[in-house]
Amino acid sequence: MKYVDEFRDPVLARTLADAIARITTRPWTMMEICGGQTHAIVRHGIDRILPEGVSLLHGPGCPVCVTPAETIDLAVAIAREPEVILCSFGDMLRVPGNEASLLGARARGADVRMVYSPLDALRIARETSEREVVFFAIGFETTAPASAMTVAQAAREGIRNFSLLVSHVLVPPAIEALLGAPDNQVQGFLAAGHVCTVMGCSEYEPIARRHRVPIVVTGFEPLDILQGIYLCIRQLEEGRAEVENPYSRSVRREGNRKAQELLRRVFTVQKQRWRGIGEIAESGLGLAPEFAAFDARLRFDVCSDTAERRNECISGEILRGVRKPPDCPAFGTRCTPERPLGATMVSSEGACAAYYRYRRAAGRSAREEAVP
Ligand code: SF4
Repeated sequence: MKYVDEFRDPVLARTLADAIARITTRPWTMMEICGGQTHAIVRHGIDRILPEGVSLLHGPGCPVCVTPAETIDLAVAIAREPEVILCSFGDMLRVPGNEASLLGARARGADVRMVYSPLDALRIARETSEREVVFFAIGFETTAPASAMTVAQAAREGIRNFSLLVSHVLVPPAIEALLGAPDNQVQGFLAAGHVCTVMGCSEYEPIARRHRVPIVVTGFEPLDILQGIYLCIRQLEEGRAEVENPYSRSVRREGNRKAQELLRRVFTVQKQRWRGIGEIAESGLGLAPEFAAFDARLRFDVCSDTAERRNECISGEILRGVRKPPDCPAFGTRCTPERPLGATMVSSEGACAAYYRYRRAAGRSAREEAVP
């Protein structure tokens, strides 16, 4: 398949792995931000062909995983309102809140529907004018423009029975928070290519300078990731801390200006709680005053407990890169994709789901597709 197969070429992958080994003189710790990259790394065994001492930590770039339990509780409370149809993406319906998941609410009679796009939810609102349709909007800078476009469309059409429960989050403030944490081990980042396709990569430049960390914009195929690791280690070895963009087939430094303009028009930047991490200043989006009529938090007079309750799940530490899924005593036993205890096992981009799928068996899983 064009644009896929050439980025999975095993000979080139081996060449890149050899190049990484040649330039590496000491241990380095890097973090891939995005859950999609984590899945590619685990699936293709990329972390297992790196030189000894070079490690990859898995970052918080899974939007389903970082949506706080109290926001899911709020979504469940809204879904239980008799006139409401609550719509969201499939994984989001399965993630447990403090009390229940949205699928659990559906089993008890709430009208909860899976959609592939916020525009699907808007269509349902158009077709069901006697009901209130709420789209639970999650995701990073990649999915936020679609939410913004949908709200702008609803406003243009004068659709009154549609609203958004917004839980969009922003990547650069999360990187800053991780770098500022006392237990931070990350020396370089592989930034998520799809986020940079929208936002560009210039906003990473002050972070790289301030924290003296290389940030390499990285795609999602094995060669993209190996190239990102190579460039990141080369900067570390040379004492540089710059933003590099080898993912130029998708990312321009300035990003997608139209999408950014739409985000600025529809949303305002605000503080946001991240599941397992806590509150990060200026790391989330809320609807701008002009679009407040579409804000489900204002439209529905429901409340939910704001405290995140503790269970044995250590996904907060996994999302901060402090621990890895096999460190969790519940991994693969009390916690599985069928009976998940935490969001990182539910989401198709979650780190626990990646390890369960590709590394569950002791040693190497038969399903792991290794770079030779
Ligand atoms: S294996 Fe399950 S319980 Fe453990 S950290 Fe992952 S999601 Fe949480």
